[in-house]
Amino acid sequence: MRGAFIMLLLLGAAFGSGCGTSDPPQPETRSTADSLLDRYTTVRLDADLGALDDARRGVIRLLVEAAHEMDSIYWRQAYGEAEPLLAAISDPGLRRYAQINYGPWDRLADNEPFIAGVGPKPRGANFYPADMSVEEFEAAAEENPALESLYTMVRRDATGGLVAIPYRAYFEVPVLRAAEKVRQAAQLAEEPGLKRYLELRADALETDEYRASDMAWMDMKDNVIDVVIGPIETYEDQLFGYKAAHEAFVLVKDLEWSGRLARYTRLLPSLQRGLPVAEQYKQESPGTESDLGAYDAIYYAGDANAGAKTIAINLPNDADVQLQKGTRRLQLKNAMRAKFDEILVPIAGVLIAEDQQANVTFDAFFGNTMFHEVAHGLGIKNTVSGRGTVREALRDHASALEEGKADILGLYMVTTLQEEGELDASLADHYVTFLAGIFRSVRFGAASAHGRANMVRFNYFKERGAFSRTEEGVYRVDPDAMRAAVDALSETILVLQGEGEYAAVDSFAARYGAVDPQLAADLLRVNEANIPVDIVFEQGVSVLQNAGS
Ligand code: ZN
Repeated sequence: MRGAFIMLLLLGAAFGSGCGTSDPPQPETRSTADSLLDRYTTVRLDADLGALDDARRGVIRLLVEAAHEMDSIYWRQAYGEAEPLLAAISDPGLRRYAQINYGPWDRLADNEPFIAGVGPKPRGANFYPADMSVEEFEAAAEENPALESLYTMVRRDATGGLVAIPYRAYFEVPVLRAAEKVRQAAQLAEEPGLKRYLELRADALETDEYRASDMAWMDMKDNVIDVVIGPIETYEDQLFGYKAAHEAFVLVKDLEWSGRLARYTRLLPSLQRGLPVAEQYKQESPGTESDLGAYDAIYYAGDANAGAKTIAINLPNDADVQLQKGTRRLQLKNAMRAKFDEILVPIAGVLIAEDQQANVTFDAFFGNTMFHEVAHGLGIKNTVSGRGTVREALRDHASALEEGKADILGLYMVTTLQEEGELDASLADHYVTFLAGIFRSVRFGAASAHGRANMVRFNYFKERGAFSRTEEGVYRVDPDAMRAAVDALSETILVLQGEGEYAAVDSFAARYGAVDPQLAADLLRVNEANIPVDIVFEQGVSVLQNAGS
């Protein structure tokens, strides 16, 4: 599974607006630009580098410069040259919107064009010639497998035939500039793991051979600075999903939270023994190896910075590296904070009872998200009924139920750790914030798998009286009932996974996954409140605190 954007969906940022794709382009008017721009709110990515030494701050400045090169490459992959398009847009608001989208198509509205006269977005973006058919490509690829490479642009030669041009050649100037900056950063880096990774990554950018650097990235353990740079995800290629788009994240590790995560991961065996379910469903031993870290993001570029912003990374994608080394999961704390402040709190302001709004806290939001990640390690991977692995037995229901398990067992972990004195937290904060998070995730409808999974939790909690709806149409959590409902839903899901009976999961999803009509009506009030859909960043060395010079 290509992993980086799973959490983006979990946090509900990227659901489409429901606009049709067949509408004609919008006229270029000021009000159109304003209403489009209102869907994003601008936040500063201003991590404080005061605790870092001069060498590390120098590494960060170089990596931000390298990351910046990913922007022009990504423009050419997604659309074409940026400057002629931007120069032709007279309305400054629409020009800004084109920069946010890296092209003239709206990423929050199924890539609908928002510039007059622009046609629909090609499904293969600009990775392939616009006039190429699927049949033509497939026939040519039989002769020339390089056309299907993750790391080539497909173009026509002088005779009209299809040719594969390696990224290192097609994007030679920005690629060489980025590699040079990464190599300079390697020279300055003091942590051996980081130094080695940066050296190999610079080579990878120049050769389009990424595996060795991915391996080195998996071996990094004690680095404070991290960077993801190069062609990574293939979502931009909607035609075949072959082509990786360039992007970058420059990151600084949150040592305190990463340490806490490592500690909670080590507590997994005792938490497993305490799961509120019969013995046979908790026989497996959870892994206590943690490759989960908390980071502050300093810079997003290219694919990572286009449209809705991801707040978690799960890489690498190379299946061979995954088999040998697993993956690393990185949670981007300041980006989460921005979405919490700008989106979740305003939603809670509309739908949570006034006397519980103070219980919607960032610590609880971040904690719930982190415990969700750790909680994937709890429960069992194999059915107890002879149906093989849970994943095989539950097929298309497997992923949604596993995510539902992690959500509810994350809350079970918070509850248990708090009651055992391991965690200094307010359960009311975690519960109320959890409910507000459900509202955020179903804001754009329960049609997606993730929206449905949230409806299951909502309806299950409602049935157990975990919250009530007041006459004013706002929701109030009953912490004691919620605590009991957490145990009950945990048990229900663990048994469904342990038995692995497909039909039982199917009827569970049908029973609880339906949209509550009252909630649907209440969510209309959220939509009327003009709460932003996502965030854009004011970012770069100039906005960092204590970045040095
Ligand atoms: Zn998950």
